[in-house]
Amino acid sequence: MTEIDTFRAETRAWLEVNCPAEMRAPIRSEADMCWGGRNWTFQSDAQRRWLEVMATRGWTVPDWPRDYGGGGLTPEQAIVVKEEMARIGARQPLYSFGISMLGPALLKFGTEEQKTHYLPQIARGEIRWCQGYSEPGAGSDLAGLQTKAEAVSDPVGGDHWLVNGQKVWTSYADKADWIFCLVRTSGESKQGGISFLLFDMATPGVSTKPILLISGSSPFCETFFDDVKVPRDQIVGEVNKGWDVAKYLLGHEREMISGMGLGGGGSLGAAVKPGDPLLRAEIAAFDVDALAFQAMSERFTALWKASEAHPASPSMMKYAGTELNKRRNELVMAAGGSDALEWDSERTRKGKAARDWLRSKGNSIEGGTSEVQLNIVAKHILRLPGA
Ligand SMILES: Cc1cc2nc3c(=O)[nH]c(=O)nc-3n(C[C@H](O)[C@H](O)[C@H](O)COP(=O)(O)OP(=O)(O)OC[C@H]3O[C@@H](n4cnc5c(N)ncnc54)[C@H](O)[C@@H]3O)c2cc1C
Repeated sequence: MTEIDTFRAETRAWLEVNCPAEMRAPIRSEADMCWGGRNWTFQSDAQRRWLEVMATRGWTVPDWPRDYGGGGLTPEQAIVVKEEMARIGARQPLYSFGISMLGPALLKFGTEEQKTHYLPQIARGEIRWCQGYSEPGAGSDLAGLQTKAEAVSDPVGGDHWLVNGQKVWTSYADKADWIFCLVRTSGESKQGGISFLLFDMATPGVSTKPILLISGSSPFCETFFDDVKVPRDQIVGEVNKGWDVAKYLLGHEREMISGMGLGGGGSLGAAVKPGDPLLRAEIAAFDVDALAFQAMSERFTALWKASEAHPASPSMMKYAGTELNKRRNELVMAAGGSDALEWDSERTRKGKAARDWLRSKGNSIEGGTSEVQLNIVAKHILRLPGA
């Protein structure tokens, strides 16, 4: 037996003992997804236990260093854990922007103090994070952001940043404990005047207002900052150099979003069986493309984890994965006919197909639109003239 085979056998045995049966069932709705944080109410004892055992072993973030709450596993071992979890249908113990976005940025740009303070909290699911990037006048043109942080010297209250402005489309801002936020600290240069700031959403002056999504839920908000005082040391990287941190984090966000293309695994043709032969042919063609995407995704993940992927490749993956997910949802709706439009009954699990279909429309917008990803691919990967 090779070392990795032994590791696989141990992982399988450990999961068998420690993954509660209830956590081996597919996710039915958002409520089944554990997001952690100060205000999280566990749905069940099993959900709580699953997070606790996985966090204690460092397997909410298997490939992060042990010193920061991770499992200290090699990329190969981390893949084994993922595969063995998939084999028994185990749910992800924790959904977290801290894990998929902020964590990698802190590992690269954070001070030792910031790493030892924030990363273990993220790994244990104690703090829920939201992302304060977009503003009413700054989406695709993100560097046009205007939320301002002014350095204030205060001999009584301590030196701090004074933050004023507004963010928009902030996913889960009303539920998050902390925000990672892009702020303007200098007007001299567009990208050069941005800093990357962390602060508590309970700080006086922070308020949120939910925005309703077409799918019927309200997961994101307008977020307002009105004279918010933030300690000076809660900046990641250097003052006015936050754009480097922001771009690095976006790569990880796009890598995470591209995973939507995998659609939880399994063939669409096996799941939906319409009578119409033309639709069956479309579904078969989709399944072939989905398999090709899966192969591409495995290759990309291996290169990305080894820091060998082209820096623009998350844009390529995000574009392919999200367009594929939209196509999957279109086909599920087409196969379901008028029944699929049903919205409220238990029979259709509260209109899951229709809600997922409408939610998927946002996939090619969040984390940067498809058009913007294509621009990046044209310029940085294909090096097309004029791009
Ligand atoms: C579900 C969802 C969740 C989100 N969550 C968050 C979050 O948590 N935090 C956060 O900060 N933001 C979040 N966003 C915002 C998201 O990042 C922005 O919506 C996105 O970057 C696009 O910006 P915009 O909406 O201002 O559109 P615009 O930038 O105004 O774009 C409008 C249209 O013009 C096109 N366009 C713009 N520029 C170009 C160009 N140069 N070339 C070609 N076409 C172009 C775009 O592709 C788009 O079709 C979320 C969005 C969605 C849909």
